[in-house]
Amino acid sequence: MAGRILITGGTGYIGSHTAVVLTQSGHDIVLYDNLSSSSDVILDALKEITGKPIPFVKGDVRDADRLVHTLKSHKIDAVMHFAGLKAVGESVEKPLEYFTNNIQGAISLLNALQTQSINTFIFSSSATVYGEPEYLPFDEEHPTNALNPYGRSKKHVEEILQDIASSNPALRIACLRYFNPVGAHESRLIGEIPKGNPNNLMPSIAQVAMGDREELCVFGDDYPTSDGTGVRDYIHVMDLAEGHAASLTFLESNTGWHAFNLGSGTGYSVMELIHAFEKEANCTIPYRITERLAGDIAEYYSNPDKAAKLLGWKTKRNLKKMCASTWKKTKLTLYSSDTISQK
Ligand code: NAD
Ligand code: UDP
Repeated sequence: MAGRILITGGTGYIGSHTAVVLTQSGHDIVLYDNLSSSSDVILDALKEITGKPIPFVKGDVRDADRLVHTLKSHKIDAVMHFAGLKAVGESVEKPLEYFTNNIQGAISLLNALQTQSINTFIFSSSATVYGEPEYLPFDEEHPTNALNPYGRSKKHVEEILQDIASSNPALRIACLRYFNPVGAHESRLIGEIPKGNPNNLMPSIAQVAMGDREELCVFGDDYPTSDGTGVRDYIHVMDLAEGHAASLTFLESNTGWHAFNLGSGTGYSVMELIHAFEKEANCTIPYRITERLAGDIAEYYSNPDKAAKLLGWKTKRNLKKMCASTWKKTKLTLYSSDTISQK
C-alpha cells in the first residue's frame, strides 16, 4: 500500500469524498488546501464520517517552502492533486488567474515532489480537455482540443506530466479525466457547496427544488440530441472517489504516464436529469427554454473501458442515487445553521 498520501484541495468537493474513501480503505492521508473555495468545517464532518481526525495543513500549492516542509514532516509517499480553480466561465474572464493557480500551482507542486523523490502522482484532469467531439463516446485516444482557458490549463498540466514521465522512468502518473461529478456522501455531511450562484446543472436544479430560484433555464432545446437538450455523462462523486483509490493501486505496479476517463459511459439530457430529480424530490421543477450557451457542446460522454480493464473500476451508482443524494445534501445545507456558514 502506497504509504502516506497528500491530498491537495482536500477540503474541496471531490477531495473530501476521496479522503473518506482512502481513510476507510486504510490509507494514511494529509489534506492540504488554501481554503479559497472551501471551509475547514469539512474537517469536523470528515472526522464524524471516518471516526478519526485527519491531519490538515492550510497552504497554497504555489508556496514551495510550505509544500516541501509538509512533504518532509508528514513523510508523504504519494500525492493526489485536486487543488485548483474549476469554473469554465470565470476562466474566460480571468485566464491568468486560472493559469497561475492551475498550471503554476502544479509546477510548484511537482518541483517540491522532485526534491523529496516522490514518484506517485494522481492529477484531477477533466473531460473538457477533449473539446468538441470528433467522435463519441470519447476514449482516451481522442484528440485534446480544449475550448477554454480552464480546459487548456488541464491539457497543459497533462502535457507537462507526460514530459516529466518521459524524462524519469521512476515516475508513476495518472491523469484522471472526470466527466460530470454530482451527488454527495450518504451521510449528507459533505457535498458540493457552490459559491454564490451555481452555474452547473445539478446544483441549479436543487436550488429550484428548494424554492431558492424561481425556475431553471434550460440552455437550448434544438441540439441534435434525443430530446434537443444538452447531454452529459454524470458520475456520482463517491464512484469518482473510488476511481482514485483504484488508480493508486494501479500505480503501485505501473510506472509511466496514464490517462483514464472516469465516467459512467452513459449520457443523460438536461430534461432527463430534471425528471429524475423531480421523482427523488417529489416536486415539479419549473423551467424555461432559453438560448444556447455560447460555446456549449451539444453532447458528450465517456468510453470507460480503459478504466474498467486496467483499474478494475466502474461506476456503481445510478442517476437515481445521484439525484437522491444531491437532494438530501441540499436540504441539510439549507436548513442547518452549521453548514449555512460555509456558503
Ligand atoms: P473544489 O473547488 O470544491 O475544490 C478545490 C479545492 O482546491 C478547494 O478546496 C480550494 O480551496 C482548493 N484550492 C484552490 N486553489 C488552491 C491553491 N492554489 N492552493 C491550495 N488549495 C487550492 O473543486 P472540486 O469540484 O473538488 O474539483 C477538484 C478538482 O477536480 C479540480 O482540479 C477541478 O478542476 C477538477 N474537476 C472538477 C470537476 C467538477 O465538475 N467538480 C470536473 C472535472 C475536473
Ligand atoms: N445547463 C442548463 N441550465 C443550467 C445549467 C446547465 O441547461 O442552468 C445544461 C448545459 O447547457 C449542459 C448541461 O446542462 O448541456 C450540463 O451543464 P453543466 O454546466 O452542469 O456541465 P458542463 O456543461 O460543464 O459539462
